[in-house]
Amino acid sequence: MKTTAFLSAFLLIFLSFEKSTAKPLEIYFLDMVGGASTLIVTPMGESVLIDTGSRDPMHRDADRILHACNLAGLKQIDYLITTHFHSDHFGGLLEVTKRIPIKHFYDKGALPSKFEQMTEWYRQLYPLYKEATKDRTLPLLPGSDVPLKKDPEGKIPAVILHCLAAEKQIEGFDGTIDVEGVEMRDADETENAKSIVLLLTFGRFKFLAAADITWNVEHHLVHPKNRIGKVDLYQINHHGLDQSNNPLFLKAIDPTVGVALNGPRKGIQPNTFKALNGLSSVKAIYQIHYNVLYGDSGNVPSEFIANKNNPDKGEFIKVMVEPNAKNFTVAIGADGLKKSYSIQ
Ligand SMILES: [Zn+2]
Repeated sequence: MKTTAFLSAFLLIFLSFEKSTAKPLEIYFLDMVGGASTLIVTPMGESVLIDTGSRDPMHRDADRILHACNLAGLKQIDYLITTHFHSDHFGGLLEVTKRIPIKHFYDKGALPSKFEQMTEWYRQLYPLYKEATKDRTLPLLPGSDVPLKKDPEGKIPAVILHCLAAEKQIEGFDGTIDVEGVEMRDADETENAKSIVLLLTFGRFKFLAAADITWNVEHHLVHPKNRIGKVDLYQINHHGLDQSNNPLFLKAIDPTVGVALNGPRKGIQPNTFKALNGLSSVKAIYQIHYNVLYGDSGNVPSEFIANKNNPDKGEFIKVMVEPNAKNFTVAIGADGLKKSYSIQ
């Protein structure tokens, strides 16, 4: 073998070794049966858990969160973000804190409106939230980032997790959310509209997780100025309910892949389903469950549904993004077949 050939062979081995040691960004969409919990593990080994599903049936959602944490090899959760105080998003928190250490707690820094504070579920769950967080919560405000670690050598792109909106306040927008107009809907004074909106950027890859925001907040996030831009991955707002997923918003974010955290009788409703399927950018929609209310024409094919044949399986949807990659992959479960989509 000539020296140059030997050197290039060596370089090739070295480069492929280098490539394989850089960890991917991982995103797990967990089955909370119509609730929400999304686990993010960064290439630097840090973890962010967005929401914790429901408390009931007792321990089911916490069990599933811990299962995913174990598969990801986590010993702690670095940042726990509660997007809003609805029972399907913060009910599982206390049980999760009993099983894995949580370093930092974020929420939107405000309690629900008076009428929601009167609800039975809130009166039961909020004391558990206080017990879990021990008053160590920090507000995640529009315009701020979760302080994730960056690669000191700068070889791996930084994961930026940015808060675009919370409490019906949008970064850089001073106007009123609920204005009258043909494109607008009645004011939503519930926690849904006040959800924390997160935009994750990793190199060219963009992922939007806006929890349960509704129509009018969606409108102002993209109109007249698009504050989000095109995203590769979209956690479909509000489990895919038609109260959310304003077509103007969907068109503006122009997603490549959508993931619905729906339940067997909740979410991925007909208007949302139709609007997403009508976008030329959309290459695939994934669902956590098959919604029995809408039949085959209102659900995606089986290969894109995590828990179609067994609604009690608790299977997650996993997304992986290699550093500096041109594609990202989506799979059902830890060992599922990976489908690849290009990063725009
Ligand atoms: Zn919800």
